[in-house]
Amino acid sequence: MRDYVIIGNGAAGVTAAEELRRRDARARITIVTDEKYPMYSRPGLAYVLINEVSVEQSMARQPEWYVKHRIELIYSRAEQIDFDRRRVQLANGRGLLYDALLIAVGAKAVPAPFPGGKLDGIVYLDNMDNTVDILHRVKSARAAVVVGGGITALEMAEGLAHHKVETHYLVRKSNLWSALLNDRESKLVEKQILHHGVHIHYGHETAEIIGEAGRVAAVKTNKGEVIPCDIVGVAIGVKPNLALVKGTPLEVDRGILADEYLRTNIPDVYAVGDCAQIYDAWSGEKRVDSLWPTAISSGRIAAINMAGVKQPYRKGVPFNAALLFGLHLTAIGQVAAAGREDDEAEELAFISRGASEVWPASTGVGYTSAWANDGTSSQRLILRDNVIAGALLLGNQQLADPLRDLIDQRVDIESVKRQLSAGGTAMSMAVMTAWHELKRSKKVAVPYYSGIEFGDN
Ligand SMILES: Cc1cc2nc3c(=O)[nH]c(=O)nc-3n(C[C@H](O)[C@H](O)[C@H](O)COP(=O)(O)OP(=O)(O)OC[C@H]3O[C@@H](n4cnc5c(N)ncnc54)[C@H](O)[C@@H]3O)c2cc1C
Repeated sequence: MRDYVIIGNGAAGVTAAEELRRRDARARITIVTDEKYPMYSRPGLAYVLINEVSVEQSMARQPEWYVKHRIELIYSRAEQIDFDRRRVQLANGRGLLYDALLIAVGAKAVPAPFPGGKLDGIVYLDNMDNTVDILHRVKSARAAVVVGGGITALEMAEGLAHHKVETHYLVRKSNLWSALLNDRESKLVEKQILHHGVHIHYGHETAEIIGEAGRVAAVKTNKGEVIPCDIVGVAIGVKPNLALVKGTPLEVDRGILADEYLRTNIPDVYAVGDCAQIYDAWSGEKRVDSLWPTAISSGRIAAINMAGVKQPYRKGVPFNAALLFGLHLTAIGQVAAAGREDDEAEELAFISRGASEVWPASTGVGYTSAWANDGTSSQRLILRDNVIAGALLLGNQQLADPLRDLIDQRVDIESVKRQLSAGGTAMSMAVMTAWHELKRSKKVAVPYYSGIEFGDN
């Protein structure tokens, strides 16, 4: 009987456990978690924050699910791995021996680097405990400042404003989420944010968080403005959790390095999800993602390899669909806005939650973009050679599925390239034509990101 140990009870770890059980009815499967919950939807935290989903509803697995699948869930922190003895030491004193080990420990928010960054009232939207903490604080808070450039910062601003907290959003550049959105897209999102009563301060960075009696009292910006507040929401990026493997022979760069079979440099040790830097055929490099679909697909393929079937991981096209201030946003493939080299560098240092290191790759030579924009929605395609390399959709999502398939399958667009490049309605129609052609040829893959949704027990 084989012993499989999985460190991390997130999308990656749970998907791997499920696949291992499917393939090996007799194996002993153990998941270790340092949180006090069964698996929950991490992207769903934004919905918990705006009271659209309860804490209970965001649980993607109930305790009974683990029992039914004979997966032991241990609520304790993995403190040390002895790779020679194949043993994981837990904080509760237990030691777990493994035949194959999966490290799926995720990523965590980069802490506030500003003076005053440890004051009471600084919050992160990172895990369930953080989210419950914010929900508690908004009951008495009057004003908040949110700092950061990606989805999580926007979700935090939306959540705070939802609870009638006067919310100020500091934006370092002159437009929103500048590593991804171009000026016109930024304006569309801005319209929604202002409609929700959030104050945007462009060109402002946090110089200092001012405290009183150990608590947040105000934020002072680099331009000398002082904004009184009780809460500072920090979402400046995430970093893979590497503490557990620091100082061990396991090879790491920005994340734990994994090859196309999701193996690390140590025999029978695999790494997946947010903590891993995985070979990406799109760029030919090992990249970090913080994407739910990537966590699920990599978890599944790692399990297949752990169970002894050699199957390479072909990372699906990076895909993210989010609802920000009531506006649907979908980013697919290589989609960064052109001419934002400084922001790209920042993304590589600290990737945002719900983002991919693959996105910024679209600003080099040989890329052109095509547009459709009707004032309330926009669709931007990134074209390279004879394929669509990426797409960014805001508002109308009619093209989301077609574009995901066309980009993922790297469909040759030669026959419709002129219409695509023309933008507007001609572009939308050409996307649909190419997609119908693809479906007729039956090459559309089963969506690789399907698997775990809210309450899917
Ligand atoms: C607010 C928010 C919004 C998001 N929005 C989106 C989105 O719109 N689209 C999208 O694609 N993605 C989004 N994401 C990112 C997505 O949730 C992650 O990519 C995904 O959950 C990663 O799964 P994972 O299993 O790799 O890691 P995680 O879900 O982080 O799970 C890792 C687990 O391991 C535990 N752990 C760490 N160290 C140890 C240890 N030593 N011992 C035991 N346990 C340990 C952690 O506590 C954690 O529970 C969002 C995330 C957040 C927080």
